[in-house]
Order: sequence, then structure tokens, then C-alpha cells
Amino acid sequence: MILKGKEVAKKIQESIAEVTQKEKIALAILAIGENKSADAYIKGVLRTSEKLGVEVKLMRLPMDISTERVINHIEKINNDDSINGLMIQMPLPKSLDQEKVINAIDYRKDIDSMTDKNLGMVLKGKSNGLMPCTPVAVLETLDYYDIDVTGLDVTVIGRSNIVGKPVAALLTNRGATVTICHSRTKKLKEKTKSADLVIVAVGKKDFLSKDMVSEKSVVIDVGINVENGKLYGDADYDALKNYVKDITPVPGGVGSITNTLLIRNTVKAFRLSRR
Ligand code: NAP
Repeated sequence: MILKGKEVAKKIQESIAEVTQKEKIALAILAIGENKSADAYIKGVLRTSEKLGVEVKLMRLPMDISTERVINHIEKINNDDSINGLMIQMPLPKSLDQEKVINAIDYRKDIDSMTDKNLGMVLKGKSNGLMPCTPVAVLETLDYYDIDVTGLDVTVIGRSNIVGKPVAALLTNRGATVTICHSRTKKLKEKTKSADLVIVAVGKKDFLSKDMVSEKSVVIDVGINVENGKLYGDADYDALKNYVKDITPVPGGVGSITNTLLIRNTVKAFRLSRR
């Protein structure tokens, strides 16, 4: 089966539309420097926000800005009661101190769940904080298509703080047995082929090939690769789509849910601020 993300996103949008249409909710996006694929993501957030009646304040800062100046902007947003959530577009320019910038965000407005505090809550299995959008998009896809991960062998390829590690933690908390793989992993093919569920978040087109999976595999493709203006995932989709049990397409899979989850997190931040 092709696990399409649009239907999942639509269901989530319906669940928050009543609040977003009624309340004045706003999020801010801080974009530093130029990045074409980041701009495509921002466009998606703007489209979904407009549809749901959420205001977006987009701030663009120059590539050569200092860490201190970025933190000044973040603190202003932290103290602005009219803004409920803040997302900082990744990747940051290499000249910035990434950890300082991320942890300057008030965790109650951290709608992309990047601060140590929110990621720690994910690790501990606390769902009352703001959870990271891409890993949660994976869970929402599995839930929508009734794929119960309890007891499943899951192989995650990728160990980044924004995708690989948090998705592995969330699935472990749900009772899956998770193997995290990365560029230093030995015998990767064995680990993917024997898994019930493979989550690939590497950033390389056609990385997950037919010989790495089986007819019983469920494949969740998180990768986004742009080649000649076209979007591709990390799985060899054409070779896998009629072979594996289930697969998410790119585009139209996990990536089409994340911007809706960013807005759902803004709604959650709005609710938390009223407590
Ligand atoms: P990242 O920080 O670059 O991490 C990539 C991971 O892949 C690393 O852990 C790396 O291992 C591993 N890797 C690289 N080459 C490998 C190899 N040959 N064998 C096994 N593992 C290998 O990337 P990311 O931020 O997690 O993003 C991953 C992909 O997801 C990208 O395509 C990105 O665009 C996409 N993405 C999509 C969404 C969405 O909403 N759909 C959101 C975020 C990211 P090492 O750690 O050893 O280097």
C-alpha cells in the first residue's frame, strides 16, 4: 500500500481548525541566510497557516549575523505575548553557535522541539511537551494506517537530533525494538532486510535499494533530496513501490504532514500559555 501523507495531514487539520479559526494564534519563523529547500518548506508552512487562520511572522536575517544578535531576536520573540511559537529554519550557517541559538528559545514556544528540555521530554516519554514534527509525522502516518509498532523490529537509518534519535525514542516508548544505524554501521543490509519497519532519514537519493528490504517490509521515507528541481526521497521508490508491503511516497508522504504538525504544536503552545 502507498501510505499517503495528505490524508493524514487533512485529518490533523480538521482536529485543530475549530481553535485556529476562533483564537488569535501566531507563530514566528526565523530564517537565516538563503536556502532553497528551506524556502520550499517555509512556503508550505505559510500555505497551511493561511488555510487554518494562523498568522506567520517571517523574519529573515543575514547569513553573516553573529550568535549574540540572533539570540537578541529570539529573546524578543520569547517575550512577545502575541507570538505563540517560534521555529528557526535549519540548517544554521556554520559560523553560528548552534547549541546556544537553539537553547535560547523558550521551551514553551519551541514548536520544532529542538531545545534540550523538549528533546529530554521526548526521551523520557512525556507527551505533555512540544514534540518534534518530523518524528511525530512518522507516528501519525503509522497510526492513520493502523500499523501497531508494539513488538516490531524497527531499523532507523540516520542518527540526527531532529529525525533519527527522536523517532527511535518515540518508537521505543511505544514498545518497538529499535536499531539505530548510521554511516559507521556494519552490515546495514542485514539490519534493514530483517526489520519489519525501516525508517530512512539519510539525505541520499535511492539510498534504500530493493536488495535492502523484503516483501514484508514497511518503509517510511523521511528523506528529501532535490535533483534538477524535482523532489526525491531516500528510497528507490520505483523499485520498491510494488515490492514492499507499504511505503510512503516522496513527495506526498511524511513531508506533507510536518507543516501541519508545526501548526498543531503552535496551538498546543497557545493552550499551555493560558494555563
Ligand atoms: P543529517 O543530520 O544529515 O543525518 C543524516 C544521517 O544519515 C546521519 O546520521 C548519517 O550518519 C547517516 N548516513 C549518511 N550516510 C550514510 C550511509 N552511507 N549509511 C548509513 N547512514 C548514513 O540529516 P537529517 O537532518 O536527519 O535529515 C535526513 C533526511 O531527512 C534529509 O534528506 C532531510 O532533508 C530529510 N528531512 C525531512 C524532513 C521532513 O519533514 N520530511 C524533516 C527533516 C529532515 P552519521 O551520523 O554517521 O554521519
